[in-house]
Amino acid sequence: MKYRELSIQTQREAPNNARTEGFSFLVRAAYLTRDNVPTRLGEWMLHHLRKLADKSVNSFFSNVGLQTIGNNSETFFPIPSGSIEVAHCPSCKYTERIELARFEKTPLPQEIPLSLEKVFTPECHTIELLANFLGIPKEKTAKALMYTHVSDNKFIFVFVRGDMQLSEAKLNQHVGSIRPATAEEMERSGAAASYASPIGLKDAFIVVDDLIPQSQNLVAGANETGYHLKNTNYERDYSADIVEDLVQAKAGDACSNCGNPLSVLSTLNLATRKEYDFENILLALAETHHDSKGLTLPHPATPFDVYLIQVPGKEMDTRAKAEEIYNTLQNAGITVLFDDRDERAGVKFNDADLIGCPLRVTVGEKNLKEGMVELKLRKEKENQLVPLDNITEKIKSILK
Ligand SMILES: [Zn+2]
Repeated sequence: MKYRELSIQTQREAPNNARTEGFSFLVRAAYLTRDNVPTRLGEWMLHHLRKLADKSVNSFFSNVGLQTIGNNSETFFPIPSGSIEVAHCPSCKYTERIELARFEKTPLPQEIPLSLEKVFTPECHTIELLANFLGIPKEKTAKALMYTHVSDNKFIFVFVRGDMQLSEAKLNQHVGSIRPATAEEMERSGAAASYASPIGLKDAFIVVDDLIPQSQNLVAGANETGYHLKNTNYERDYSADIVEDLVQAKAGDACSNCGNPLSVLSTLNLATRKEYDFENILLALAETHHDSKGLTLPHPATPFDVYLIQVPGKEMDTRAKAEEIYNTLQNAGITVLFDDRDERAGVKFNDADLIGCPLRVTVGEKNLKEGMVELKLRKEKENQLVPLDNITEKIKSILK
């Protein structure tokens, strides 16, 4: 492919909307517009990645030099600007979307159940206010969340420990589609908003987190505005229709596989099973493979292994020689981007660095007179002179 055919227009400056260095270089190297739309070069790259993914299904990500995390169904790339939060165990590599991640819960020390005691708790409509008012830690309270089943309008009462956050995604897995309960629906079942507990409810489907039966003497709502109950105990005071893990993991929680602390990472989704998101993969590649001058894409991630430059000569027609090399390399199965512009060498070298092909071949008069061309690896500082007759073999051996 020739530079002019792809109508590449590189940019000197980083776009001002660049959230990451990788995105910035993709725009500067003319793979993407500032509005994140693939250019012709970008489309070419995406097409190349698609073909590569078809060929190397299981090893695609390692082949293109991407370090990913994931599980059987999803592959993620950690990046601070990513919109998907995942829990990840650095020790055993367990990875799951945060809202579905399992973790090891640590129950508080076992206590003997004490008798129920109704206490006046004015204005305590959050767990924080309640815990402060009573001078107890949040983990000694229980939190109520109320929903209605979409299909049959059944009232669903959810109970989790006060220091935990409900994961609606986990709840959905057990009860299906839900919506928040209305004030009337709460009242009908006997639940007092902000002062609710499962004790004494009518016609309610009760779902509790699996930590609740292991926690004794929790403070919970009295189903009467302004009052709470001390020492509520599962089984003695109420029971549930479902007891399951319902709460969201957070950083530092123990991995349910190995017990080590989980990290929470922002990520991009690169694949769901074998459905790849190639635009995210392109960004992940740029994020992983760049230096201060531009992209440093590895073979075989790049659609062009060689960036071919011809420097105009005074006596020789270097252009014709470069065309010849271009054809020879292409015929040998080496992909080449030929910078066929009448630009100064410096401009072409800068673009070669930006676009990031693994190898650069420069055809200039001085070296040609000696039967040589200049070969430079994108990731190395120094260049080397290679006999013209040898260039195909040399490049093949490097790309192996
Ligand atoms: Zn683990």
